[in-house]
Amino acid sequence: MPGSSPVATAPTVAELRRIVDGWRRDGLKVALVPTMGALHAGHVSLARLAREHADRVVVSIFVNPTQFGPSEDFGRYPRTLQDDLEALRGVGDLAFTPAVEAMYPAGFATTISLEGPATAGLEDRFRPTHFAGVATIVAKLLIQAGPDAALFGEKDYQQLKVITRMVADLDLPVNIVPGPTLREEDGLAMSSRNRYLSADERTVAPTIYRVLSTVADHLRGGMAPADATARGRQALAAEGFDVDYLEAREAESLNPIESVSPASVRLLAAARLGRTRLIDNIAV
Ligand code: AMP
Repeated sequence: MPGSSPVATAPTVAELRRIVDGWRRDGLKVALVPTMGALHAGHVSLARLAREHADRVVVSIFVNPTQFGPSEDFGRYPRTLQDDLEALRGVGDLAFTPAVEAMYPAGFATTISLEGPATAGLEDRFRPTHFAGVATIVAKLLIQAGPDAALFGEKDYQQLKVITRMVADLDLPVNIVPGPTLREEDGLAMSSRNRYLSADERTVAPTIYRVLSTVADHLRGGMAPADATARGRQALAAEGFDVDYLEAREAESLNPIESVSPASVRLLAAARLGRTRLIDNIAV
């Protein structure tokens, strides 16, 4: 936003705490939006939603090494700090930008151990160490910033459920607020990883949302989840995706379902196009 002041940055935990403590002394409510940077309109929408839940909005930008598997894209994950700070102009009040050594100092030896939604057999089946890394860094961020609210996108639906469970189980005094998935005009869910897609892959990528929508229609029409999701997996494979999973699950527990009613159902998928792994999900 031209004319608005640049977002302040806190590169250390001490600086974050100093600023947030000042806001608290003034009686202001604080919201945290954890991100890995390479910000897009989906991230910005979460930060704008945060403003509805708090007087001050902190956006953390930290590419968290512990949530990447050994063969994943940690090294090539996009790092675009200057653009990110520009995107937060007029949107966030503070960008927390810690160094890896600050978050994981030598001797770091503590990890959050998870069950429930973290072991639902979706992302965890293909990224077995992912949620331990996510939960550990999010717990640290929540303890460091002490926000009243923290916002997470439904785009990473299993992650949202994992964090909601962890916060309840650990009695962390923070309100977890979900934000809707922002999509490109052709339906592709916005993601920092979309920039990996070649031009050809980019034209195919929205198929994942179209297929999810069709499977949801079939489920609403009474088709059995096993049949509807099998068709969806075939449709994705026919377009050139390597499908990790496409499943219908109970929306809160992420437990498998035999039929759609009366459960509240979420359809979740992950599939690879070339070197890029895409995930998406929709309500049924
Ligand atoms: P990330 O930087 O990918 O770790 O994402 C940071 C936060 O932004 C997470 O809570 C994501 O779920 C959320 N997010 C990512 N993509 C989108 C999107 N397309 N719409 C809304 N939120 C998103």
